[in-house]
Amino acid sequence: MHRLTGRIFEGDEITWRSKEVLQEIKIGYCKDCGFYHADPYPSEEFLKDYYQSYEIPCPLYIEERFRIARLLLSYLKEDSSIVDIGCGKGEMLEVLHKCGFKNLYGTEFGVLRNQSKRISPITILPYDVNGFCDWCKKEAKRFDCTILINVLEHVPEPVYLLRRIKDIITTDGMLMFVVPNDFNVLQQVYLEKNKTKPWFLILPDHVNFFTINDIDNVVERAGYQVIRKTVQFPLEFFLLQGDDYVAAPKTGKKCHKKRVAFEKAFLEVGKLKELEELYSGFAKMAIGRVMYVFAKPASSK
Ligand SMILES: [Zn+2]
Repeated sequence: MHRLTGRIFEGDEITWRSKEVLQEIKIGYCKDCGFYHADPYPSEEFLKDYYQSYEIPCPLYIEERFRIARLLLSYLKEDSSIVDIGCGKGEMLEVLHKCGFKNLYGTEFGVLRNQSKRISPITILPYDVNGFCDWCKKEAKRFDCTILINVLEHVPEPVYLLRRIKDIITTDGMLMFVVPNDFNVLQQVYLEKNKTKPWFLILPDHVNFFTINDIDNVVERAGYQVIRKTVQFPLEFFLLQGDDYVAAPKTGKKCHKKRVAFEKAFLEVGKLKELEELYSGFAKMAIGRVMYVFAKPASSK
């Protein structure tokens, strides 16, 4: 059951990317799920049709892919088995391979699979999440780490999905996912100041909108325990300083360069640990444009 509460977004407040607009869909904070989501969710047929021709560039910049690989190296061994679900062209897997991981799998069902990199020893399978879980069951295959990069915001009933995925993780294995930190306080300041519509409510691409404060509960309901939360640079700092990439998207490139320069400064002087501490601090304050969540199946101690 889904019961939206508080401020409800509908009609022109939602940006639609598909040709067909489903007017009946509203977005609000669901008190049953504990996060913002579309209600009702678009049907499976509607999403399937929309994603038939879906082709997005890798959602992570190269610097962030290396950062994730570094973070994973602190939990895993080089021969740990890792699967990237919804791996696109395999960009993240390629970086993990470069960083020394040897036991790598990906799964991708969209048009991107045909373009996926064929790098030995990476295995890329042709399934969607459910098809992949079925394949794992049949093959009695489990992974030490399952990665979901920008997946959970796209799928109806994400808790159900996370529960299914738990079955393919080894008992002392882990889950790592990347998801936008929406409705964060910096966005709210911008929205109130500019009296504009929430630009991040983009349907049917995004059907769930998580804040970093809500995510522990979501993960726990799916049978995991959060072990680490961190974030990407809070890009909204730029928005509130006048580099308005919402009103003028071209500004985004400039903001990206500044953010890369900021991180590069830490890298150049060997202070990546300090940079990670800063980002963990931002995560505690619930700011950061995108969150990285590391979790373990709850039964493992
Ligand atoms: Zn709900």
